[in-house]
Amino acid sequence: MEKIPFLSLEQAKNIIKEIPTPFHIYDEKGIRENARALNKAFSWNKGFKEYFAVKATPNPYLMKILQEEGCGMDCSSYTELMLCEACDISGSNIMFSSNVTPVEDMQKAYDLGAYINLDDYTHVEFIKKVCGVPKTIFCRYNPGGVFELGGSEDKVQVMDTPGDSKYGMTEEQMENAFIELKEAGAEEFGIHAFLASNTVSNEYYPELASILFKLAVRLHKKTGVHIKYINLSGGVGVDYKPEEPKSDIAYIGEGVRKKFEEILVPEGMGDISIFTELGRYMLAPYGSLIATAIHEKHIYKDYIGLDACAANLMRPAMYGSYHHISVLGKEDKPCDHKYDVTGGLCENNDKFAIDRMLPKIDIGDIIYIHDAGAHGFSMGYNYNGKLRSAEVLLKEDGSFELIRRAETPKDYFATFDFSNFKFN
Ligand SMILES: *Cc1c(COP(=O)(O)O)cnc(C)c1O
Repeated sequence: MEKIPFLSLEQAKNIIKEIPTPFHIYDEKGIRENARALNKAFSWNKGFKEYFAVKATPNPYLMKILQEEGCGMDCSSYTELMLCEACDISGSNIMFSSNVTPVEDMQKAYDLGAYINLDDYTHVEFIKKVCGVPKTIFCRYNPGGVFELGGSEDKVQVMDTPGDSKYGMTEEQMENAFIELKEAGAEEFGIHAFLASNTVSNEYYPELASILFKLAVRLHKKTGVHIKYINLSGGVGVDYKPEEPKSDIAYIGEGVRKKFEEILVPEGMGDISIFTELGRYMLAPYGSLIATAIHEKHIYKDYIGLDACAANLMRPAMYGSYHHISVLGKEDKPCDHKYDVTGGLCENNDKFAIDRMLPKIDIGDIIYIHDAGAHGFSMGYNYNGKLRSAEVLLKEDGSFELIRRAETPKDYFATFDFSNFKFN
């Protein structure tokens, strides 16, 4: 499908008068509508709740919007927990899905009353020592092997290889963990797993649900514990490329419902609440990176240089990810120029696009990089002394608000103490 910017050239120019490029901008309307569609797709399940994966876009303004739409927050670190605290989000509105968990982080999650999801069997002893076992506890499952979709042999699609993943426990460990946690006072149990990332197949969640529902039945039979929650975690993908299909959330919700009716209900386990921890799906399409073309260069290839770089959006450099690019105001012009669109890092992988067909770009053109709303700003870094950009919210009424200022050199220098320097 054609990818249409949620920002017009006129709107962009208006914002740039106050907030210079580069900046990330988020579309409140899109975020709210999408969250509502997700909640609707799972409304058949009484306790359904999405816990937004904070790591994807850790901005309190955006967290507040999602909170207003009924979402909780999924955290994995001390500072992410602090962000929730700052937003007055606590208790069962936080899911703490960490790994390699430090003592202080576990303690903080416990103090906030968060739902705690244990990544490893040794965390059973660990949590007993650190803070004690809460009434409700989750364990993360790793089935090992290869995760496939499809069924019939000619159609099998390998999604990912849990056998190579550092996360979660084996089934035997889950069983022992549940028994020991119950002995230590836990009353309600949850199961969590994350088996594949950025899946555009609508069958991912139903297949994962089927695996976890069957596991729940087996664990319930073996341990007798009350399994109350199943957390399907993140992984539902977005259509970064125009030719990719969009995830159909209504279809996905219905697919999970069928597995629920098939597997859990006959076992008398129909009181289970479904949780999700989506990050990308909640925000990626509703954020974009806005930059200005500041340089053009013609050597063996044609290059357009932007005032943004991989430090503002790392995915293309890190994973070779595709991000669609629009030149604002030139949406209807023919894409008859082939460019590499680059940033200014001293790294040749600092390219937002390689051999991309685009309209003729002139210096000063405003470049709109699509689908940067999740794992975009948040993966930013300061390499080459580059500073993190501002974040802007495009509100439902068309006005805009600065929701994070850009870093200044002062921020870059804030962690040095120059007072001991002789030449000072
Ligand atoms: C990263 C992560 C998510 C979110 O993943 P998306 O691909 O953004 O949906 C959810 N849960 C956990 C534990 C994660 O690490």
